Amino acid sequence: MAFEGLSSRLQNVFSKLRGKGKVSEEDVTEAMREVRLALLEADVNFKVVKEFVAKVKEKAVGKEVMDSFTPGMVIIDIVNKELTELMGGTQSKLAKSSKPPTVIMMAGLQGAGKTTTTGKLAKLLQKQNSRPLLVAADIYRPAAIKQLQVLGEQIKVPVFSLGDQTSPVEIARQGLQHAKDNHHDYVIIDTAGRLHIDADLMEELKQIHSEVKPDEVLLVVDAMTGQDAVNVAESFNAQLTLTGVVLTKLDGDTRGGAALSVKAVTGCPIKFAALGEKIDALEPFHPERMASRILGMGDMLSLIEKAQSNIDTEKAKEMERKMRNAEFTFEDFLEQMDQVKKLGPLDQLMDMIPGMGKMKQTKDLKVDEKQMGRIEAIVHSMTTEEKQQPDIINHNRRKRIAAGSGTSLAEVNRLIKQFDEMRRVMKQFSDMMGPKGGKNKAM
Ligand code: GDP
Repeated sequence: MAFEGLSSRLQNVFSKLRGKGKVSEEDVTEAMREVRLALLEADVNFKVVKEFVAKVKEKAVGKEVMDSFTPGMVIIDIVNKELTELMGGTQSKLAKSSKPPTVIMMAGLQGAGKTTTTGKLAKLLQKQNSRPLLVAADIYRPAAIKQLQVLGEQIKVPVFSLGDQTSPVEIARQGLQHAKDNHHDYVIIDTAGRLHIDADLMEELKQIHSEVKPDEVLLVVDAMTGQDAVNVAESFNAQLTLTGVVLTKLDGDTRGGAALSVKAVTGCPIKFAALGEKIDALEPFHPERMASRILGMGDMLSLIEKAQSNIDTEKAKEMERKMRNAEFTFEDFLEQMDQVKKLGPLDQLMDMIPGMGKMKQTKDLKVDEKQMGRIEAIVHSMTTEEKQQPDIINHNRRKRIAAGSGTSLAEVNRLIKQFDEMRRVMKQFSDMMGPKGGKNKAM
């Protein structure tokens, strides 16, 4: 996950402060020196770092802080607020035109993830009950049109294309008309990228801009490229007046400098963050939540939102009923694992739980997707009968399941033991609560 280095360095600085009943000016100076180094190492723009540290220091050495009961905590709070401010303060929402369709123009250099992000954005809008239209206006990169069409098919969003022989401006114009005629409320135009910024590219983008008069011009930049991403944003913004930036590849081990500098340097808010290659790996960017994640304070709000939009509540209720009545089977167990997986990679989820980001670095708590895979393999090797009535799984069956799943007898035994234990606890719970008790208490 991005920011790992920065996050653990900052948390170390603060764990020193947190314990102190009194904080001296020297303590603050020392802490700020370390914060400064941590930010520079995370590839944050040096001017941004300088200003940031000066601001925090000014507030932190104030009398109220020094005299408070928990000066360390107050300083962490100041840093949290300033980090949030640095990334834009509050969430910058996507525009919505009062006269639909809302026109979104996507721009970016080749490889930044522009086409993928275009598809992801359509998916996100679709989840909010919008009817987006995608327009394929990248006629230069081989296969860009096809790529968009495949994405569109995958999420069932129509893609407007005129092939690669019509000019991008004309494609954009006709695409917009098509959206109007077919009552789409959003049009997302995937424009061409280049390997580097050049005059031709800018000229074409300007022409498209003046033709479709977009409500949003979103620049897609690759967070892994650090300060380069910020420079790219600055150049595009000078010529095209961006309305927002989308940071991609935040799932990688980027040091995070781009996320922390882009707003301060360009004045453009980050509107979305992409955290993976999958179609639903795009999130609205919330500065305050990102700051909490960096400081290891978790991001429960995003986690809850993810759960709400991905978990089928009817199924969850049915699951709860089964647990209460001790009818839970291995089939249900598999389904639960599937639901959890829908929320995204485990280690990303861990980062959202306060304190977990740091805990996860300790060896014993390594979140292991592989382990989950092995458990699934074991359950898949059971017959339907075995899944539904785990009690019949005797020694011979266990040996067969281990062989079938490519695991060991010990692993199969362990899983079944854990499963029995789980059922026993569930049963105790439901007995404790009585036949009708705890109706609304989801487990
Ligand atoms: P474009 O040239 O800007 O249109 O770039 P593409 O959309 O084709 O993306 C380039 C590569 O980056 C593809 O392999 C994508 O799967 C990958 N990619 C895009 N966004 C992300 C992201 O958020 N995380 C990761 N890990 N990969 C991404």
